[in-house]
Amino acid sequence: MNAIIYTRVSTREQAQHGFSLNRQAEECERFARNRNFDIAAIFVEEGASAKTQKRPELVKLKKYCLQNKKNIDAIIVWKIDRLTRNMDDFYLLSEFFKSLGIKLLSVTEINDDTAIGKFSRTISGAVSQFENDQKSERVTAGMKQAVSEGYWQWCPPKGYIKDDKNLIPHPKYAPIIKEVFEKFSTGLYKQTDFIKIFKKVGINANGNFISRTLRNSLYCGIIRHEWLDYPIKGKIDPIITEELFDKVQAILDGRKPQVTGYNRNNPDFPLRQFITCPNCNQPLTGGWSKGNAKNKFPYYHCYNKDCSCKLRVRADVVNKIFPEYLKTIKPEAHLLELYKAVLKDVFRTNTKEHKSHMDCLNRRLSEAQERKDKLLDMYMDEKVSEVDYRRKSELLENTIKDIQEELFQTPPLEEDFNAYVDYAFSVIANVDKMWDNGSLDLKQRLQRLIFPQGLTYDLETFRTVGMASIFTKIGAFKAPYNEMVLPRGFEPLPHP
Ligand SMILES: [Zn+2]
Repeated sequence: MNAIIYTRVSTREQAQHGFSLNRQAEECERFARNRNFDIAAIFVEEGASAKTQKRPELVKLKKYCLQNKKNIDAIIVWKIDRLTRNMDDFYLLSEFFKSLGIKLLSVTEINDDTAIGKFSRTISGAVSQFENDQKSERVTAGMKQAVSEGYWQWCPPKGYIKDDKNLIPHPKYAPIIKEVFEKFSTGLYKQTDFIKIFKKVGINANGNFISRTLRNSLYCGIIRHEWLDYPIKGKIDPIITEELFDKVQAILDGRKPQVTGYNRNNPDFPLRQFITCPNCNQPLTGGWSKGNAKNKFPYYHCYNKDCSCKLRVRADVVNKIFPEYLKTIKPEAHLLELYKAVLKDVFRTNTKEHKSHMDCLNRRLSEAQERKDKLLDMYMDEKVSEVDYRRKSELLENTIKDIQEELFQTPPLEEDFNAYVDYAFSVIANVDKMWDNGSLDLKQRLQRLIFPQGLTYDLETFRTVGMASIFTKIGAFKAPYNEMVLPRGFEPLPHP
C-alpha cells in the first residue's frame, strides 16, 4: 500500500511556535510505517495559509493524485487543518480524494469511515474554520474600535504621514494639497488645472486622483467610513479647515458656480460672460471706459475680433433693467399656486408607487431567505443531497443578492419634498428682488439657473434661447385647462 504525505506551516506558526515541518513529516512517516504504508511522495507547504486552495504544493498534490490514483491508497496529514481550515474546501477535497479511491488519514484524529470518524473529521474541519473566522473577526473588531476612537487604520492619503497612530501633514505634499483646495474653492479653477501643480512635487495626478482628493474629508480631519454611523473628528492634524472643505464640496456638487477659464469676478459686472452679443452670440466681457474719473463708465462689450457689430452697452444700465426683465418673465402668483398644488399631488401619487415597489422587493427578499433556511433544514435532515443543496442554495443566494442590489439602488423618498417645493416657489416668486439684492455669487447662480444658455441683449430688450424648464412649464398653465399636461420629472431648485 502506498501513501503520500502533506505537511504545512504558516509563516506565523513558524515564527511563534517553531513548529517545524520536519516534526509533522516525522509523525506522518511513523504513522505510515505502523500501518504498513510505503511513502510514495511528500509535499511540503511552507508559509501558506489554509484559507485558500491555491497553495502550490496542494495543487501539485492534487495533480499527482490524478495521475497516480491507481497506485495511491492514502494521503496522510498530521491534522485535517493542515489541509484546509474551511468547511467548503474540506468537503470538496474529501469528495475529490474519495472519487479517486484515496483515503484521507489524519495522524491525530479518528480515521475510520464509520459515522463517528466522519463526524470527527467534519467537526475538526468546522472547528478550524471557526477559529479562522474568529481570528478575522477579532482583527476587524480591533480595527473598528480604533476607527471609532478616531485612528485612521489604512494607508494615509497623499499629504499625510502616520506618526505613531495619528495622521500628521507630510512636509512636502501637505502644502500642495492645501494650495489645491484653496485654489479650487475660488471657483476659478478646473480640476485639470491641478495636474501641473501636483507634477511640480512629483505627484502623478490624473482626474480620478484629483476628484478623490477634493472629496476626501480626511484633509479637514474628518473620518467618514461605512463602519461609522456618522462622520467623526479623527486623531488627525488637519491640512485644511472644515469651512474650506465644505466650500469645495459645494462647488463639486454644483451648488456654487464655477467660473472657469476666467480669472476675475467683479461685482460691477454680474452679467459678464452671461449676456451674449446679438450679432455673433459670443458672451460679452466687461471693462471700464478710458478717461478721467468723472466720466469713467462700466461697459459690457463684444470682444470677438471677427464680429462686425462692436457692441458696447453701459453695464450699470443693463444691470438695472435686468431685474425688470426678470419681473416680466415671472409667472403670475395664481399660476404658481396652481402649479405647486399639482406638483405635490403628482408627488403623492409617485410616492404610492414607490412604496408598493419597495414593499414588493422586501417581501420577495424575506421569501427567498425563508426558502434558504428551509433548504438548510432539509439538508440537515438528509432530505436533499449535498449536490442539490449546493446548487439550489447558490441560486437562492444569487436571487437574494439581486434583490438587495435593487433595494440599494432604489433612491430613498425625499421626505421633505413639500418644504423643497415651497422654498423653490418662494425663490421663483421673488426672483427679481433676490437678484437685485443678492451678492455677486447669488446673482450669477440665479441667472444661470433661469437661463442656462445665457441671454442676448440687443440694446432694446433681452432675448433668450432657453429658459429653465420650471418657468416654461408654469407658462404652459396659461393654456386652456383641458390642454394641460401633468408635469413630470420636476427637479427642485437647489438651495442657493
Ligand atoms: Zn459680437
